[in-house]
Amino acid sequence: MRTLERPKPNQRTNTDATGMRITLCRRCGSSDVVKYGICKGQQRYFCMSCQRKFADSNALLYKRFPVEQVGAALSMFYSGFSTREIGQNLTQQYQVPAPSKSTIYRWVAAYTSAALQCSPGVQAITGDA
Ligand SMILES: [Zn+2]
Repeated sequence: MRTLERPKPNQRTNTDATGMRITLCRRCGSSDVVKYGICKGQQRYFCMSCQRKFADSNALLYKRFPVEQVGAALSMFYSGFSTREIGQNLTQQYQVPAPSKSTIYRWVAAYTSAALQCSPGVQAITGDA
């Protein structure tokens, strides 16, 4: 399964083929960043290196849990795992207290609405893209 298209690895310069400025990740400085749609007039981005979303305002969608845990939870959710199984898996994988069922649903709702409202052209998690 996969989440988002990986960008072509040709972005060592500061512009891409269309001459647009390449955005560097606010978190890790990587240029391995893909556009993630526009929300409220603001370009949003997703960093393939540290798996974080960010906008020009530096707004972060998830604060309390590392985004890789959120991503793992979402992947499992879309693969048909129950929230209880997701919680158990996260506990095993990351040695953290399992997020509650409602927390997982909030992640799913936040991710899904972000994907729908903010990036109509972006392939979100579909299972077999
Ligand atoms: Zn990054």
